[in-house]
Amino acid sequence: MDTLKDLLPTRLFEVLEKAGICTTKQIIILSVWDIKKLTNLFNDDIKLLKNILSNNCSPVSISGNSLEDKNVAVKTGCASIDKILKGGFRIGTLTEMYGESGSGKTQIALQTAVYCGTSGCVFICTEDLFPVKRFNQISQYVWHDIKDTECKKNIFIEHLTEAHELISCIRVRLPKLLKFNKISAVILDSVAAPFRCENTNYVQRAEELKELAILLLNIAQEYNIAVICINQVTACFTGSDDVLPTLGLVWSNLISCRLKLTKTIDYRELTIAFAPHLSNAQGAKFIITKNGIEDMENILINK
Ligand code: ATP
Ligand code: MG
Repeated sequence: MDTLKDLLPTRLFEVLEKAGICTTKQIIILSVWDIKKLTNLFNDDIKLLKNILSNNCSPVSISGNSLEDKNVAVKTGCASIDKILKGGFRIGTLTEMYGESGSGKTQIALQTAVYCGTSGCVFICTEDLFPVKRFNQISQYVWHDIKDTECKKNIFIEHLTEAHELISCIRVRLPKLLKFNKISAVILDSVAAPFRCENTNYVQRAEELKELAILLLNIAQEYNIAVICINQVTACFTGSDDVLPTLGLVWSNLISCRLKLTKTIDYRELTIAFAPHLSNAQGAKFIITKNGIEDMENILINK
C-alpha cells in the first residue's frame, strides 16, 4: 500500500508531519476542524487530503454497466435468459428458481453447470439422482471441441435427502471444497425436498431453513460464487390457477433474487419475481431441445 508521502502533495505532507499526523487512519478519523486546529491548513486543503485518502482506501466501485460483465454472473448459455438476467446468475447472491413440474428448472440448472466449464460447479441433488445422461448430452453439444474429461473434472456432485445432512454438508464440507477448488456456482436441486411437510415441527423447520439460507448466502459472498436454489410450487388458495413457491416467508425473506418459470404448449418462460438489480418488465422465452435450453427467438429465426 502507498505511504502518505507517496499519496499526498509534498507541501501538505510536510505540514501534517510537523503536526504529528502520520497515518491515513488519523486523517480519516480526525474532523476537518481538528486537522485545521493542528495544522492551520485551509478547509479546501483538508477536504482534498481526505478525498485523496478515502479514494485510495475504498474498493473499486461497481457501476451498473460493469454488473453486466460476465465476471459478475454465471451464464446459462440461453441468450434470452442471460439477457434479462444481465449476464446470468449473479455471483455473491442467492437466487431461487421456482416453477411447476416440467417447467425447465433442472434443465436450466444443468446447462448452467455445463457452461461453468473450467470455472467449476457444485451440484447438490436432493430428489432424483444427478441426470448424468442429460448432462452429457448438453455438454457434448456445448463443448464438442473439448475433451469430455476436461468438462467433467470441474463438476462436483452430491446426493443428499435429509435436511440435517444438507445443512452439515453446506456448513462443513462445502467450504473445504471451495477453499481448494475453483468454483463459480453452487446449485441445489431442490431446496424444497428435504423440507417437505412430513416434518410437522414447523418451528424447527423454519430454524433449519433460516440456517441453510444464511449459510448459502455467506458462502456466496465469501467465495464470490452464484448460489442457485430450485424450489417447488404449491397451490394458491385464492381460487386462481396460479402457483406459489413453497417454503413460506422465512425462506422468501432470505433469498436475494426470485425467478419464476412457467410453461405453455409452445414454449417456456422465465420471469423475474423480484431481484434488486433487474427490471422485471419482460420475461425470457425459451424452449427445451436435445441440445439444452435454447432462445425461442433464435430457433424461430433459424427455421
Ligand atoms: P420437476 O419439478 O419435476 O423436477 P423441472 O422443472 O425440473 O421439473 P425439467 O427436468 O427441467 O423440469 O424439464 C423437464 C422437461 O424438459 C421435459 O418435460 C421435457 O419436455 C424436456 N426435456 C428433458 N430432456 C429433454 C431432451 N433430451 N430433449 C428434449 N426435451 C427434453
Ligand atoms: Mg427438476
